[in-house]
Amino acid sequence: INRPVRLLFLAYADVIEPPTHPLPADFDYQIGIATYFPIVRCYVHRFDASDCSVNERYKGHLLGWAVEPKRHYKGQICIGEYYNVSGYKCLPICFMSTMATDIPYYYSIGARHFHYMHCTTDNMGNKALTNYQMARQLWEPGLDCEALWKDYFTGRYGPAHAQMRQFYENLEKMLCNVSELKYDLARQLERGAADLFPKPHLQYEKTAQQKDDGPDLVEILQSAKRCREIIGGVVKQELPERIRHRVAEDERLFTYGERTVQFYDALCRTYFDVRKSKLTEAREALAEAQELARLLEADTTSTTFSATHATDVNALSASRATGAPKRLAEMIRALETKK
Ligand SMILES: [Zn+2]
Repeated sequence: INRPVRLLFLAYADVIEPPTHPLPADFDYQIGIATYFPIVRCYVHRFDASDCSVNERYKGHLLGWAVEPKRHYKGQICIGEYYNVSGYKCLPICFMSTMATDIPYYYSIGARHFHYMHCTTDNMGNKALTNYQMARQLWEPGLDCEALWKDYFTGRYGPAHAQMRQFYENLEKMLCNVSELKYDLARQLERGAADLFPKPHLQYEKTAQQKDDGPDLVEILQSAKRCREIIGGVVKQELPERIRHRVAEDERLFTYGERTVQFYDALCRTYFDVRKSKLTEAREALAEAQELARLLEADTTSTTFSATHATDVNALSASRATGAPKRLAEMIRALETKK
């Protein structure tokens, strides 16, 4: 082979901790590059936050690879981010603020390579900003993101730029707790866990604490409602055709996210009510969940155009709580029989 070869190896999952022994004396640092993958990291908090136990652990490992003076690995660092990790299934998550702080941080600790799993290649909606901002920040890690956003929103949305900026900011609040939603809550709903909210980052009602405090489900729903109000207003505006198309794409993808969180909420309320033997309320909440499941199942486009395991056949399957309505219907039937 007559060209430079680079071999990116993974610092990930069970091999995420930095080496505890010296590397071979002839380890080729030009070829071998460590890629640090903080899978299911928290996006409520910045990567270097001290008030997030999830990211704190990841930061400790990364510093062990990249900064610690006595570290064994002394080579290059690539960061593998997860803006669309498989479980997120192309949700319309906004990362604008987290990227604004995280990318300069990664650069400051010496990382010089960066990518993320799994880029969406079409039907991007608001995720176009993730791709654009990433490219611009990698080119210039000290970039003024405020200026970038001003230019982006004005150029993309013209007369609707101010409302759309608000929409994105609320969208970030709505879905920043996505790791908890998709990797914890969805699983608890699917298996009918006794405690649906075992972790402080995500509770049902609004809570506040010093550490590991994230938007709770009722706050997530409030942000979704605010996003709907804003984009509902923008859709009604007289806008140039190219801008109307962009807003329509954003609105379509937002609807996927909105229905997903509303589906989780209806399932939670059904579990709460059936466990308190409140039959009428449980039936009503289940009917809501079933209607949302029907709408999600009919959405076969929002979960496409990415790597195979970040996509899904439809938005219901992507929710990872497909079996919950059936489980709840059985719980309700059992309660009816008992009464
Ligand atoms: Zn966190």
